[in-house]
Amino acid sequence: MAYEKSIAAFEAASRVIPGGVDSPVRAFGSVGGTPLFIDRGEGAFLYDVDDNKYIDFVQSWGPLIFGHADADIEIAVIGTAKKGLSFGAPTELETELAEEIVSMFDGIDKVRFVSSGTEAVMSAIRLARGVTDRDNIIKFKGCYHGHSDSLLVQAGSGAVTFGTPSSPGVPADLTKHTLLATYNDIDSVVGCFRDSEDIACVIIEPIAGNMGLVPADEEFLLELRKLCDMHGTLLIFDEVMSGFRASLKGAQGLTAIKPDMVTFGKVIGGGMPVGAFAASAKIMSQLSPEGPVYQAGTLSGNPVAMAAGLASLKKLKSNPAIYVELARKSRKLMDGFLSAAKAEDISLVTDVRGSMFGFFFSDKEVKNFDDAQENNEEAFAIFHREMLSRGIYLACSAYETGFISVVMTDEMIDETITAAYESMRIVSDTLGSLA
Ligand SMILES: *Cc1c(COP(=O)(O)O)cnc(C)c1O
Repeated sequence: MAYEKSIAAFEAASRVIPGGVDSPVRAFGSVGGTPLFIDRGEGAFLYDVDDNKYIDFVQSWGPLIFGHADADIEIAVIGTAKKGLSFGAPTELETELAEEIVSMFDGIDKVRFVSSGTEAVMSAIRLARGVTDRDNIIKFKGCYHGHSDSLLVQAGSGAVTFGTPSSPGVPADLTKHTLLATYNDIDSVVGCFRDSEDIACVIIEPIAGNMGLVPADEEFLLELRKLCDMHGTLLIFDEVMSGFRASLKGAQGLTAIKPDMVTFGKVIGGGMPVGAFAASAKIMSQLSPEGPVYQAGTLSGNPVAMAAGLASLKKLKSNPAIYVELARKSRKLMDGFLSAAKAEDISLVTDVRGSMFGFFFSDKEVKNFDDAQENNEEAFAIFHREMLSRGIYLACSAYETGFISVVMTDEMIDETITAAYESMRIVSDTLGSLA
């Protein structure tokens, strides 16, 4: 494959955009090479500016559950855009999308729309702090909740530490209110509650997708729910990725545990910038203009974005069997990767939740971020590069989740598995036995 035009485009971009990208995950930092510049997407395929064609398992990092340029979403977007792009005044589309979400999730009465997942989580946390009149929050190491100050905390030395910022520019005064716990480890959460009486909320990805795919254990979530109830702390499920991805009801379709608040993004925008946070009427009534907790946005609930989200959710809701097919294809793909690895004596662990799939070059079950970090990143980098050269577009980091879209056929999955066999061979030829 030739990448000349992407390389030139990246050079041009790098002159005027830091690192040549508008979001760091797009840079091919951990796998080497330059990012592909995209010309267009069609269904399951992505075409770069050199006109190379790929089966796209990134799906814009999750939103495109119907693949690229879906006809129904396109019609909704164009029809709405023709009536004007933004009004800064309410439209009925916002109510319609809110009604869809409320009707699908238990325990949610009201939704507020914003323009990104980051904003959704940031606002949900402000509301949780406002409602409880407490300052501290608990987050889990390896979970990503957007790039707002309080949440940009990952690593602490002990199992339970008060957070230190993981980026310059984030005041320690702010992150000292963020307590870090270990995913799937309830004792670490008990420790946080012991360290602080002032915990407004616990925020968690109930199916973590930002340290690779690492689902929470049912028992762990149950204990977490109990701890929150015991301490008057709100439980927030960040379903920005898993919402309408893991199942029609996100993680909540797969577990009996109910949160107090939920954040959404990605799929609910159908490819347009949308985020949302939702809770009971009682909690949401504390939000401005009904209540005292302030939150706002010039383009919030943008009509074109609402139309795209609405078209997506209506299609999903009218055919919930979609998720059975998506899960079957995810499992088939991961079973294929497993067989390909086994053929070369390479250790691989995989997991699947609905249309989400993940794999680690590791021989150890992955339950938390520390486990995840024990994967062989060199093996991943080689595998990624080899798959790419065979027309398979996977996320360019070992700590991301892959996505199946509705338009992916069994033939495409088979083609991907064939490429995986060839790529695993090269991983093994390069690194020797990884068993
Ligand atoms: C992507 C993501 C976010 C951030 O959403 P943006 O739209 O990128 O701001 C927050 N939480 C989770 C779980 C995510 O996957």
